[in-house]
Amino acid sequence: MDMTNSEDILTGLMRWVEIDTPTGATETIGTLIDLIAADLEPLGAALERVPGRDGMGDHLIARFAGANGPGVLITSHIDTVCPPGAVTIRRDGDRQYGPGIADMKGGGYLAFSAVRNLLASGAPLPGPVTLIYNSDEEIGSPTSHALIQAEAKKHGAALIPEPARGDEVITFRKGRAKYTLDIFGTEAHAGSAFANGRSAISELARVIVRLDALTDLSAGTTVNVGRIRGGSEPNVVAGHAACDVDVRFAKDEARRRHRRHAPRHDLEGSRDADRGVGRDRKARSCAHQGDAVDVRNGPRLQRRSRLRSGRDQLRRRQRRQFHLGRRRAHPRRVGCDRQ
Ligand SMILES: [Zn+2]
Repeated sequence: MDMTNSEDILTGLMRWVEIDTPTGATETIGTLIDLIAADLEPLGAALERVPGRDGMGDHLIARFAGANGPGVLITSHIDTVCPPGAVTIRRDGDRQYGPGIADMKGGGYLAFSAVRNLLASGAPLPGPVTLIYNSDEEIGSPTSHALIQAEAKKHGAALIPEPARGDEVITFRKGRAKYTLDIFGTEAHAGSAFANGRSAISELARVIVRLDALTDLSAGTTVNVGRIRGGSEPNVVAGHAACDVDVRFAKDEARRRHRRHAPRHDLEGSRDADRGVGRDRKARSCAHQGDAVDVRNGPRLQRRSRLRSGRDQLRRRQRRQFHLGRRRAHPRRVGCDRQ
């Protein structure tokens, strides 16, 4: 088999595609892992099969030793989305259809082919190369996240040969942080006791202006307040307001800067402090955290790799809370939830 010929690559790939492997189909996933392991073994890979748990299938790690250079991790998922039989396997000219062929068995197979060609060339690997085939990515990698994270830390680069948009090459993706900002004020009747109230909505409005100002398009940092909520009645000073924030950043430094300058800091000088209630404020910050491939123009999949640092692969979620104004008799607190 000529592993540089797209028809031969397709023939090899279809063996993987014909085994239908929706997330959680542990039996067929096991069969596919057997096949991938059998493909990799002759190349001299040290194979580690991680048994499935929590209803998920097995994962496979294949390690190739190299010199002392920074290693490369290539991670591919072998689970698919559609129920078995939902996508028919057929060919239409240069296009081949099949369940998960583009997302992303094609990418996973090309990673295998690339390593195979590299080893066949006789050139020594400048650093270790590790392939991961995980089986639960489509639902957020609940049982493989930690192992991918651990492997990523051992390598200089992580490649994800998964298709992107259209025929584009994606060589970079921004990091992302999401958090919910809860603001707690003091409820009061807007008619008879307005002065006793501390409006969480008013504070949220001020905070949003400050969040907006943290966007820096030239640096690739965007801060989007995408959802807000709060208050109870028009005649009640709002005791609670919240917003959901989505932050994208091109450099990790921007994420750190956002954490430093995000609202907790800004609130220190807010109007409520001037009203003499700042000392009662409680502020806490908790950081948590029908597919087709083009056969003739096969490199399409290969070109769509994306590169991220292992660190950026982790979605960071934060939940921040603020208590403004005077403490209630029964303060309403929300724990620092993982979302
Ligand atoms: Zn995918």
